[in-house]
Parts: sequence; C-alpha cells; structure tokens
Amino acid sequence: MNDKKKLSLSARILIGMAAGAALGMLLNLTAQDVDWVQDVLVHGILGSVGRIFIISLQMLVVPLVFVSLVCGTASLSDPGKLGRLGGKAIVLYLLTTAMAISLGIALAAMVEPGKGVEIGQASFAAREAPPVWDVLVGMFPKNPIKAMAEGNMLQIIIFSILFGIAVALSGEPGKRIAGFFNDLNAVVMELVVILMNVAPYGVFALMAKLVAGLGLDTFLPLLKYFFLVLAVLFIHGGVTYPLILKLLTGLNPVIFLKKLRPAMLFAFSTASSNATLPVTLKTVTGRLGVSQTTAAFSIPLGATINMDGTAIMQGVATVFIAQAYGMDLTLTQYVTVVLMATMASIGTAGVPGVGLVLLATVLTQVGLPVEGIGIIIGVDRLLDMTRTAVNVTGDSMVSVIVDKSEGGLDEAVFNDPNADLEEEDLSAQLEELEHERAS
Ligand code: ASP
Repeated sequence: MNDKKKLSLSARILIGMAAGAALGMLLNLTAQDVDWVQDVLVHGILGSVGRIFIISLQMLVVPLVFVSLVCGTASLSDPGKLGRLGGKAIVLYLLTTAMAISLGIALAAMVEPGKGVEIGQASFAAREAPPVWDVLVGMFPKNPIKAMAEGNMLQIIIFSILFGIAVALSGEPGKRIAGFFNDLNAVVMELVVILMNVAPYGVFALMAKLVAGLGLDTFLPLLKYFFLVLAVLFIHGGVTYPLILKLLTGLNPVIFLKKLRPAMLFAFSTASSNATLPVTLKTVTGRLGVSQTTAAFSIPLGATINMDGTAIMQGVATVFIAQAYGMDLTLTQYVTVVLMATMASIGTAGVPGVGLVLLATVLTQVGLPVEGIGIIIGVDRLLDMTRTAVNVTGDSMVSVIVDKSEGGLDEAVFNDPNADLEEEDLSAQLEELEHERAS
C-alpha cells in the first residue's frame, strides 16, 4: 500500500479543497478578464466537474432514502416506535432551530452589524416559502413515482414508511421483499462509497470555481455581518451541540465531531444538505453506530426540516437589515422572527441558497423590506457553505440522541476510532477483489 492510500478521506478532501482554493485564488488574481480562461477553464472544465460531482450525489438521494427507509421500517417489530422516533426527532429539530435563531438575534442585537451600512441600489426578487398548512397537505403523495421524480423528500418519506410497514405486515411475501430491499440497500451504500472516493476531485473543482469568482469588494462593507454569522455558526456547532449531546446522552462530543468530519466537508463544499444526505447516512450508521431505522428516518427528515445554520443566518440577517434601514424591531417582532424562521424551514429542502428564500418570508412577516436581501447576497455563498455544515451536524446529532434514547445506538461503534473506514481504502478492496478473482 502506498502513502496516498493511508491518508484519511477527510484529509484527502481537505487537500482537494486547499488545492482548489489555491488555483481559484491564482485565477482570481490573474485571469479575471481573460475570456478564454473564464470560458474554458473556470466555467467549462471546473464548472462541469463540480456540477457532475453534485449531480452524482443528488442521483443517490432518492434511491437511498427510499431503500433505507423501507429497510428501517420493515425491520421494526414495534410500529409505535416510529411514532416515538418521529416525535422526538421533530421536537429536537424545532427546539435546536429556535435556539440557533435566538442566539443569532441576540448576538446581532449586541454587535450591531448593520449600523451605518450603505444601502445603495439593493434589489432582490422575493420568492416566499409555502404556508404551513400547504406543507402539511403537500406531505402526502398523490403519485409516489412523481414524488420520487421531483425529489420531494417529505412525500418520499411518507410513502417509504407506509410501504415499509406494509412489508412488515405481509408475512412471507413481505419477508422476501424485505430481503431484496436489504440487498439493494447494501448495493446503494456501496455506490455512496464509490462517490466518496472521488470527492477530493469534485471538491477541488467546486472550490477553484468558487474562489476564482469571488469579488473582494462585495465583502468589505459586510465584513461585520459576515464574521458575525460565521462566529455564531461556530458557537452553535462547537459549543451548543457538544453541550446538548453531552447533557442528553453522556456521549463524548469530541468523538462525535471528529467522526462527522467527512459529512461536514461534503456539506461545506456542496452547500446542500440534500446532496450530502448519502454521506451523512453512511457516516452516522457506519461511524457513529446509529441504527438503520433511526438514521433512515431522522436524517432525510432533518435534511428537509432542520436547518439550524440557516436559522442563524436568518436571525443575524433580519437584525442586520433592520439596522441598515434604520428600523427598530419590537420584542413581538423578534418572537415572530424566531417562530417564522423555525416554521418556514420545515417545508423547504436543503439546497444551496434556500436560506435566502426563507429569509424573504421572515422579512415580509415583520414588515422589513425584502430588497434588503440584495445587500447580503454577495457574501452569501461562503456563509451558505458553512451553515450547511452546521445543518448536517444538527441532523446527525439529533439522530444520535434519538437513537440513544431508544436503546438502538451501538456505543462500541461510536467509540471505535476505526469504525467503518472502508470508504477510505476502496482501491485496496478492489485490489483484493481482483486478487480473489485471479486465484
Ligand atoms: N444550503 C443550506 C442547506 O442545504 C440551506 C441554506 O441555508 O440555504 O442546508
């Protein structure tokens, strides 16, 4: 085995990221106005490789959620467990989101990032998140194939659970179908491993394209806002989550954060909880010891309804925009912001930039100008990447807590530093396979 194979997946992704950022910086400084470099290299090669990487991850989301959720539900001996799992996960998701946004608002009110900001000609075409009742009715699929074709996560979750319950209740035929789905699950998981192995190249392209296009001048007036959102994200991910995990489960938060690193890096580079879903599922089941049922249920649910990082941005941004427009928010308006931001995130999938759509809903509710979003949009991509890593960390933490409370968590796996490292030496496995075939 050579040295390259010994590097962990996280290390290889980090190298890809750093090399991409370095190339992007070089292009940013030297080739901003060189048309052919922009056309062929930045938008052509780098743009396409990055997009193919994200599309390939997205390709696995629907099959993975369907198959793993059917496996998880079909293996349940006690159907009531599903209700408990769901109840606990939803309560934790909403509570942590409310905490996140409150922290964002409180710190923004203290730091005052929007005081004295020039508004200029900001514009933003508002697109609002759907109302809660529509979200509720919209969770039920009229046509499961359409739900899958559109990647409608809540509808897919509902259909998969019902299908899984029916499998469990169907006696012999159900057993045969369950066996088939279990095999299918193993195969889809292997696809995830293959993709994780090419991630460093995908991440390289994504970072290089991003940095090549960054405009420093958009950052300067927004430095205070930018760093405040970053700081609150780090406090929530690095202090609030570890404390909640420790208090509710007694588990070691350092192990949790360390093992979750690959998923966080994927989330950061793709800015999409949804696209990261396959990696999050693989990491929480394989590395953190969360049971199949809990993970298959809570992770896709979390990728859709739990967005703590996004909530933090919304809290800080609301206060920032109010200050920039010289408007004072009342206590009632602050409470409205917390409630609206928590509720609005429920029906919206975790994809890049969706936080701004949710923010439009929140601003409208408290009577702030939606055009304010135009001021912060220039620095949103990097914040989007960071808050997506926080969103994914939150989803994973809740699945660990819920699983532990249901007695499903395999603590031996959680504490084993080498659990499920096979994705890091796929090439070694392939070599072994070749060997076996040859002999
Ligand atoms: N990109 C985020 C996610 O996928 C959502 C957002 O904040 O825009 O979780």
